[in-house]
Amino acid sequence: MTSEPETPSEAPICSSRGCRSEATWMLLWRNPRIHGSDRVKRWAACDEHEPVLREFLTARGFPCETQRLT
Ligand SMILES: [Zn+2]
Repeated sequence: MTSEPETPSEAPICSSRGCRSEATWMLLWRNPRIHGSDRVKRWAACDEHEPVLREFLTARGFPCETQRLT
């Protein structure tokens, strides 16, 4: 009889192209032109790329929210 410890959910990897860093931020955003208000996209981001990805979204006028991952 085995009792396996509960595995924590996998740490997300940064969504930035070519980046393999562990994400410390989650960006929640949507494109109001193609997404309804109930549709939210998620991008994981590392410390380095969180401002880059957020800039990318806000430059296009997409509503965007960041959440710190712990
Ligand atoms: Zn990154």
